[in-house]
Amino acid sequence: MSGIDWIFPTPTGLYCAAGDFYIDPMSPVDRAVVTHGHADHARAGHQKVLATTQTLAIMASRYGEEHARQTQAVNYGEQVTIGGAIVRLAPAGHVLGSAQVVIEKAGQRVVVSGDYKRRPDPTCAPFEVVPCDLFITEATFGLPVFRHPDAEEEVNKLLRSLLVFPEKTHLVGVYALGKCQRLIRILRDNGYDTPIFVHGALTALSDFYEQHGVALGELVPVTTESKKATKGRLVLCPPSALADRWSRGFSDRIAALASGWMLIRQRAKQRRVELPLVISDHADWDELTATITDVAADTIWVTHGQEEALVHYARSCGLEAAPLALQGRDEESAA
Ligand SMILES: [Zn+2]
Ligand SMILES: [Zn+2]
Repeated sequence: MSGIDWIFPTPTGLYCAAGDFYIDPMSPVDRAVVTHGHADHARAGHQKVLATTQTLAIMASRYGEEHARQTQAVNYGEQVTIGGAIVRLAPAGHVLGSAQVVIEKAGQRVVVSGDYKRRPDPTCAPFEVVPCDLFITEATFGLPVFRHPDAEEEVNKLLRSLLVFPEKTHLVGVYALGKCQRLIRILRDNGYDTPIFVHGALTALSDFYEQHGVALGELVPVTTESKKATKGRLVLCPPSALADRWSRGFSDRIAALASGWMLIRQRAKQRRVELPLVISDHADWDELTATITDVAADTIWVTHGQEEALVHYARSCGLEAAPLALQGRDEESAA
């Protein structure tokens, strides 16, 4: 057992007493370390925020430059001392700028995974395995039924559908941060160089990815006028737009949605998705269990999703394991 008592869950979020800071706190605090820009992790109103340069820029574009009183940008691997703790950020492979938080005190090391995946993603740095004593892992897809297919295969389904139904507009729901740019990049890598139409809610973050070196090819903003010219083309929009008034402007359309949840047929049905694309920015069961082995921690805390099965798995490997109930999580967000 790790016996580490300087980090623990609180109603506001995970708290590191060794450095007097919170990780991804849900409400304003004096000092926060933020793993990535998704809204269920990055909130406005903290006094001090430490995060990667990209995450801070995403927070500024979402909440305004004044989202925190003071910000500290760090690069992956750069060590900073906060109170009695040494902290560094390691790539999490989830979205641009996403990080695991590595905290050391008195020869003990804790790693907080944040959201992560281990599948290839051409839009962000790959997950780094950091051996530790206590590993605090997410578990969005923490059930053995969740085994995600290859993202390229899913993208090929979309490309085939475009060929089979050349008269239809393919409307694809994607989360604005991460999924959108990853899908576009995989399409481009598979030879799709036709301009792609994008909903207004996706343009700012796509521009941001471009500025950070992720080339996305030609993107065309959807307007009332341009809606008529989308026959046989791809139109990307936030998942919520698939069901709202905005989507009615496309006469002959196929609705697709890119999400790890599309593995569940019922969810695709509920959202009236005809072409479910199982593309996840979270680790699936195999990635979660492999990572528990790889980091070689003797204690595992499981949070942010389906905790019980992964706790059981870790215990069956002879490890100390416990579920951590943290509040304010929305399981569907950005999966
Ligand atoms: Zn996330
Ligand atoms: Zn999350």
